[in-house]
Order: sequence, then structure tokens, then C-alpha cells
Amino acid sequence: MGKLDVAMLRYLTAEDFRVLTAVEMGMKNHELVPGSLVASIANLRHGGVHKLMKELCKHRLLTYERGKHYDGYRLTNAGYDYLALKALTNRKVIASFGNQIGVGKESNIYTVADEDRNPLCLKLHRLGRTCFRNIKDKRDYHAHRNRASWLYLSRISATKEFAYMKALYDRDFPVPKPIDFNRHCVVMQLVSGGPLTHISSVADAESLYDELMNLIVRLGNCGVIHGDFNEFNIMIDEDNHPIIIDFPQMVSTSHPNAELYFDRDVRCVREFFKKRFGYVSEDYPKFSDLERDDELDTEIACSGYKRTKDVDNELLEEMGIGLQVSDDEVESDDDEEAEGKSKMTEEDLDELRKEVDASIQNDERPVHQITSKTVN
Ligand code: ADP
Ligand code: MG
Repeated sequence: MGKLDVAMLRYLTAEDFRVLTAVEMGMKNHELVPGSLVASIANLRHGGVHKLMKELCKHRLLTYERGKHYDGYRLTNAGYDYLALKALTNRKVIASFGNQIGVGKESNIYTVADEDRNPLCLKLHRLGRTCFRNIKDKRDYHAHRNRASWLYLSRISATKEFAYMKALYDRDFPVPKPIDFNRHCVVMQLVSGGPLTHISSVADAESLYDELMNLIVRLGNCGVIHGDFNEFNIMIDEDNHPIIIDFPQMVSTSHPNAELYFDRDVRCVREFFKKRFGYVSEDYPKFSDLERDDELDTEIACSGYKRTKDVDNELLEEMGIGLQVSDDEVESDDDEEAEGKSKMTEEDLDELRKEVDASIQNDERPVHQITSKTVN
């Protein structure tokens, strides 16, 4: 994935947006969406959808591919980026784009700015690119559905991240202020300062250590464990206080492996402080110290709070994301699709058309109308 081609945002029309959204909806249960199906879902007043799709392929927002059983269209990474960025621009959350400032394991981070030129941080979640390749060899069963699921997994990851960030921010945890999210993109406050891993020495290692351990305990008392509490996900601001980032993998303290995750977070901090600052303390929190005083996990319904036997949850865990996924998020009718018969009824189509309308409406809604309902 290269640079974001944001110039594209300007010259693509509302019809292009609708066609891309239709392909996105079609990908819920098709790895490749037949052109006739896109036309049917997009339901453009004056037709001409095939010409538009051809244009979108030229700009690499769509690809046309030959499948084993039938041919069809697929959203590219860039196409999915476009949908999210266009929506965030329409909503006036972001007005301009800056530089890429980070590449995480499963994300790309950019600086952006709002209409008043306030700098913000944009995180694009990219699940499934590297992970699926690894898993593909091992688990052929998943290989097929995964190709179509990357966008849903990325979306779920961003949605969860926003939900956690909001819940934590509302409880005065030191996290970036969440601004908005759309699909696989989260917009948040740009933290000044850098990650703890860039810090070579601190004036007062003990007080920073205490602050971090207190945060782990405070999170635990709210019913959650960060799950990746390391020097890359702890930013240090100008006043030398920590700001915690990166939340998609957070788990409930009721998760069967909660103690393990909790101890790992604690150990991460201890080992880093020993290695980097030569600071060792025998004072560190234990899982049994936690005194639950909040239900943040229930609020977000994170992993461990409610278990299902869905194989896709297993898959998510294998990928290192313990997320609760509702069935319709990853539903995909492999067998029917493999046989090439699209068993979509007129009602199914109608449902998809409605979803396209609802999605476009949501993408145009001003940001202040976002309620906590949207994040679930
Ligand atoms: P990943 O899930 O891929 O690890 P992170 O959320 O940890 O992504 O972000 C990756 C890097 O991007 C961080 O280590 C940090 O340097 C930078 N970053 C992330 N969020 C912000 C932010 N809000 N402000 C400033 N820098 C950020
Ligand atoms: Mg990270």
C-alpha cells in the first residue's frame, strides 16, 4: 500500500460513491461481486453503472477478477480507504491530509487536519493482509472467506478501538480524544510527544513506573485489560505523563485468560524499565489485587464478556484480536458461493439496497450526531 491518493477524493462523484458502497455491501457475502448484482444493489436512477465500474477499476478502487466459478468486482484497499475518507470529509471531520507518521503491525497512521487546521491523527486499520497469508497455509477452510472478510475485520477493529477510546476518555483515562470513526478508520487527537520506546532516560523512573502500574490497575478495576501495554503503545507527552493508545485487542477481566494478559501487561512494563532505565521494583500489581468498580467491559461487550462458538471468533483470536463479533459481521455463505449460485432473493436485494441507503445517510451525517449506539 502506497501513499493515500487523496486527490481522488475531489473528483469522484456521489454516484461513484454509491457504486463503491454497493460493491462493499455485495462483499458481505460474495468474494467477487458480479456486475449485475452491483447494478441491482446500487440502483442508480439513470443506470450506467458498468461504465462507472470500469472507471473505478482504472483508478484501482475496484478490481475485476476472474474467480473459479464466476467473475466479479472486488473493493481494493484504496477503494475502501476512499469510502471511509470521503465519508469523514463529507462529515467535515477532516479537511486535509498530512504525512504518514507510523506503520503499526496492523495499521497505518497519518496526520490530518480539520477545517480549522487543527492537527488530528488518522488510524487506518489493516487487518488480514499479513495475517491471512500466514493463516491461509494452515487453515484452508478459512482461506476463502478471509479474502472477503478483511474489510469487515478491519472495520470491526476500528469500531472497537473507537468504542474503547471513547469509554476510556469519558472516564478521564489519559487516552487521545476520540473524534470520529468510519469503516476501518479512526480519527483521534494527535498526541504530541513520542512513544516511550523513543525515550532513553527519564528524570523520575519511579514516578512514571507507578503511574503506569496505577493505570493498569485502574483499567482492571473498570473490568478491562489493555492487552498490549508496551513501550510502543505508551506515548509520553510534553509533561512526561503517559498517554495510552492502541485498543482493538483489549479484553475483559472476565476473559478466561485474563490473568495471563494482565500479568503480561505488568511484565512488559517491568522488563522495559529494567532494560531501559535500570529501574527494578518489587512493587507491582497482581490480578488478585483488582477491585472491580465499573463495567466498562460489559459496556463494550468485549471478548470474554460473552462467548460464542463461532469459528470466526476463533480465527480472530488466532490473529491476536480478541473481539466479540456478531454473526452478521462475518457471515459468508461459502458453499453456495463456491458453487457459483447466488441464492439472493428479491428480499435480500431489497435489504442490501436499504443498507446502501442507510450507509450513505450515515456517511453524510454531521459528526455531532454520533451516539454511543453507533459504536455497537
Ligand atoms: P498499531 O495497532 O498498528 O500498533 P498504534 O495505534 O499503536 O497502531 O499506532 C502506531 C504508532 O503510530 C504509535 O506507536 C505511535 O507512534 C503513532 N500514533 C498512534 N496514535 C497516535 C496519536 N493519537 N498521536 C500521535 N501518534 C500516534
Ligand atoms: Mg501499537
